[in-house]
Amino acid sequence: MSLENCPLCGNGEFSLLYPSTLGKKKEAASQYNCTSHGLGIHPDIFRCRSCAMVFNEPAPDSADVADEYEQVEDPEYLAQRESRHLTFHRELDAIEKVQGKGELLDVGCYTGFFLECARERGWNVSGVEPSRWAAEYARNELAVEIFNGPVERYTTDRSFDVVTMWDVLEHLPNPVEVLSILRQYVKPDGLLVFATHNLDTTVARVLGRNFPLFMEMHTVHFTNETLTMLLEKTGFRLERKHNQMRAVRLGYLFSRLRRFGETPERIAASVLKALSLEDRIVWTGLVGVETYFVRPI
Ligand SMILES: [Zn+2]
Repeated sequence: MSLENCPLCGNGEFSLLYPSTLGKKKEAASQYNCTSHGLGIHPDIFRCRSCAMVFNEPAPDSADVADEYEQVEDPEYLAQRESRHLTFHRELDAIEKVQGKGELLDVGCYTGFFLECARERGWNVSGVEPSRWAAEYARNELAVEIFNGPVERYTTDRSFDVVTMWDVLEHLPNPVEVLSILRQYVKPDGLLVFATHNLDTTVARVLGRNFPLFMEMHTVHFTNETLTMLLEKTGFRLERKHNQMRAVRLGYLFSRLRRFGETPERIAASVLKALSLEDRIVWTGLVGVETYFVRPI
């Protein structure tokens, strides 16, 4: 589907910012048959002439996106439980400093790892998750209360001290609509916390068109300016933000080398194995992802 209007301001005039790198994908798909490693592989990226919002064009159709997320299955993710927990506990430390504990809703909670961490610390948790597989995992394995479906279909009379949304915003073709929905669920003195990549970070500026988080599934890309506009439009104000530190298994980190071909990945894998470092966890903070704490106005 072609985007007829800017996903932030609705204007219809765009300029090409970065040309497509999808040509690389065809090569990669035939050679390595691994399309899920699509870091840095993206369609044309445009910038709105009116508000400077940056987005993929063509954007995927919302209904197709919803279908795809409903059907997603990702058992490989389960192996990352330990490193995800470390990342999430670090974020919860920061949240609890400013908000204490209480009722928490995680939107796009996937397999429920964040909710599991929060519950351990005394939060009362529930989640919203479109993937059937991930929602079932969270329900059956972690006994977490989950609504299985897109957030646009979720309804509740409850409101929450904290609503979180980890690595979801950049996937949304309709970020204004989704943040407006979340605004209803955050208590007046509550907090919305989300993480997304920011094009004003050093890594994004230096890498330009080759910034790895430009991907087909990442449809919108914010800057400080466009993020401020999004918050103003949806009734929030930025309270603080921090560069997100992520715990990553070395084996997983080096598997990302696949985008440069099989040989670098194979060499890295043998070196890690020889040194017994595959399961070693390292912290990385250089990926251009920031965590935002925002409050209802
Ligand atoms: Zn615009």
